[in-house]
Formats: sequence, structure tokens, C-alpha cells
Amino acid sequence: MNILLLGSGGRESAFAWKIAQSKKCENLFIAPGNAGTGQYGTNCDVKVNDFEGIKQLALSKHINLVLVGPEEPLVKGIHDFFLADEQLKHIPVVGPQSEGAQLEGSKDFSKQFMVRHNIPAAASKTFTKDTLKEGSEYLTTIGLPIVLKADGLAAGKGVLICTSIEEAQQELKEMLTEAKFGDASSKVVVEQFLQGIELSVFVMTDGSHYKILPEAKDYKRIGEGDTGLNTGGMGSVSPVPFADAAFIKKVEERVIIPTVEGLKKENIPYKGFIFIGLMNCNGEPWVIEYNCRMGDPETESVMMRLESDFVDLLSGVADGNLNEKELIISPKTAATVVMVAGGYPGEYLKDKVITGIENVRDSQVFHAGTYLDGEDIKTSGGRVLAVTTLQDDMFTALQQATADASRIYYDAMYFRKDIGFDLL
Ligand code: AMP
Repeated sequence: MNILLLGSGGRESAFAWKIAQSKKCENLFIAPGNAGTGQYGTNCDVKVNDFEGIKQLALSKHINLVLVGPEEPLVKGIHDFFLADEQLKHIPVVGPQSEGAQLEGSKDFSKQFMVRHNIPAAASKTFTKDTLKEGSEYLTTIGLPIVLKADGLAAGKGVLICTSIEEAQQELKEMLTEAKFGDASSKVVVEQFLQGIELSVFVMTDGSHYKILPEAKDYKRIGEGDTGLNTGGMGSVSPVPFADAAFIKKVEERVIIPTVEGLKKENIPYKGFIFIGLMNCNGEPWVIEYNCRMGDPETESVMMRLESDFVDLLSGVADGNLNEKELIISPKTAATVVMVAGGYPGEYLKDKVITGIENVRDSQVFHAGTYLDGEDIKTSGGRVLAVTTLQDDMFTALQQATADASRIYYDAMYFRKDIGFDLL
């Protein structure tokens, strides 16, 4: 098969690494990719939202399957674009059509979906600028802290956790009437705060059948001990010790089955990944959010534990026979440490030369924000590299990933040295 992978981050590097191992993959193209993805296939200079450019690429490279990494092209309808085009409609796309992508693209849609299908989630109501007054009253009734969520995509920044009623009322006003998050906050979900430990569960579905991929825990804050500003993700670990078989069974029965069945009942076609962000509250799973794609840096750890042929699974999603495919997961522990640029998640340094990748001993180095400048690999993004290892036990995995990250150097590099140590 000729496969086209859309995206350029650590998630796509891990996908590309895994796809390239499959005998079923003849040629892999990554659009646009980064300095690392070129090891696994051919980078093509086309952006993920350039649908016409993607069309030309898919036709000229005789693509047989498209895998979409990030959410934006899905929410904008890349899959619908393929289905509506005579020349492209025979090419399967892994990733939902825009309607299914609303599970991530609209928090209001996803909350209503959860209510309709009795999926456990925090109590909430949605408000617009016309109902600001009702919103300001509602938030006094749900206890502190108060969670405010911009309805639309806001690059991971649209959720605020407010510790006082006054702060929540002020923020709600700014979101609704001053477009604090642009169009994304023209609707705001006001939600009760869930107390517990977070984890993510990933599902692959062909619209009828599903497979549960390894769960993972990610670390969002920039500082050690989960302090400081939120980031795109500083590390991940899989498996998650507290997500034992009994807990995952609850997730399957109360969340995964009603989600897949709910999509089917509502005639929402869905071929792709469902990322379920969960809060474990005293052993009970509550849904925080859905994403319509895999997470980053969870994908790096998940792909490391996947022993099955990933292309075979992707074909199962495309062909609707995922139930006939075998999912084999390594019992070992995968740990990912993300290396970021100096200044991140604020304004950050770029164009720094990266050295020492060859000194890494027992980890995969997945590139995220990197580019090639002649012979040099340089930094381009806030999250630069993801260092992922697979080891027999969690302690060794955490130590190895951290030790290998420290073998790499660029000016003002930073990574957390405590990823996963809270789980030991
Ligand atoms: P989301 O974009 O919905 O994943 O929200 C971002 C982050 O905000 C989550 O990863 C949680 O840490 C936090 N969060 C969102 N909703 C809630 C909630 N109802 N209770 C507690 N924390 C939440």
C-alpha cells in the first residue's frame, strides 16, 4: 500500500515509525513531516489544511490510504472532501468526517452526546452571549472550582479552572462578549469540577467494531511536580497502574460501548481514533473530553507497546473488518519524555542546532518541532523531540527515558525529570 500520513509532530513521527515497519506498506509519504519523519518515508511539502494540495499529492503518489494525525483537518472536513471528490472517493481516510469530529470540535456537541447516551460526565450547561446572565447564575450553583470551556477548538487553551465565583463570572463574560478565544468561545460550557486522577484511553473504530489500545497518562504542566503553565504535553507513560482490568472494563461498558453505539444510532459515520480523556474518581470513570484523533505524547508510548501490524489495523478501520484483526500489546512499560525549547510554553527559542541524538542508548527519538538545515537538525517548535523507551518495568522505563533525553543537547533545552515517578 501507498500511505499518506498528514501531520508534523511527535505523534506523526511515532505513526510513521510504526507504519514503516509493516510489510504491507510499500511507500509512506508524510505531509508535511519534520526532520525525523524523513527516516521512515518521504516528506512532502504540503500543509495539513491545504486540501487541494493533499488531493494532488494523493493522486500523484497513487495513495491507497490516508491517516490524519491532527484534529484541525478532520474538523474542517478533510474526510468529507475526499468522499465528495470523484477522483478521491475510493481512497479511504482514517479519521472521522466533520460530523464525527464534532466530538472534539464542539464541547457542547460532545456534552450533549454524552447526556443522550448516559455516558458519565460532569454536570454542565452551555451559554452564549444572549444567555450570559443565566450562565453567571448557573455557575454559582455547581460548587468550586468552576470549569469554563470554550466550545470550539482553541489549541488546547480553551479550558479555564476558576477558583472563585467572581473570577468565573468575569472569565465567562470575557469569553462570551469579548471573544477571549475568538470564535471558539462564542459558546461556553460551564461545568462542575471533577476531583480525581486523569488518564487517557484510546479506541480504534471502523464505525461498528472497536479495539481498545493501551491507556496512557500524560503530563501537561511545564514544571516538575505538575506545576506551572499548561503545555501540549511534557511526557507520557503506558500502562497506567491504577487503570487495572476492572477499571478498563468499567470504561468499556460505561463509555466505549455507548460511544460507538451512540454514533451508530445517530447515523454518524466514524472511522478512526477516539481519544477519551477520563477522570478516575474513586475507581469510577468520568469522561472529561473526547478527541477525534490520537494524543501527543501518548501516541509515542502507545505505538511503542503495539506489537501488531499497525497498517493491518488501519486497513481494518478502512475496510470495516477491524473485528478480524489482531491486536497484540506488549505488557512492558513505555515512557516518553518530551524535550522542549527554552521559553516554551511562552515565546520560545528557535533554530538551535540539536546534537547527541546518536548517543541515545535504548530509546526511540521521535522528532516533533525540528527541521533540517543542510547537515544540521535544528529546532523549530516548542516541543522539539519525544524520547520514548520500552522496558520490562516502570522504574527502568522512567529512568531510561530521562537518561536518554539528557544525552541530547541544544541551547536552552528543557525536559521534566519527574515524568511518571508519581505512579511508582
Ligand atoms: P479538556 O480540553 O476538556 O481536556 O480540558 C483540559 C484539561 O482541563 C483537562 O485535561 C483536565 O485537566 C481539566 N478539566 C477539564 N474538565 C474538567 C473537569 N470537569 N473537572 C476537572 N478538570 C477538568
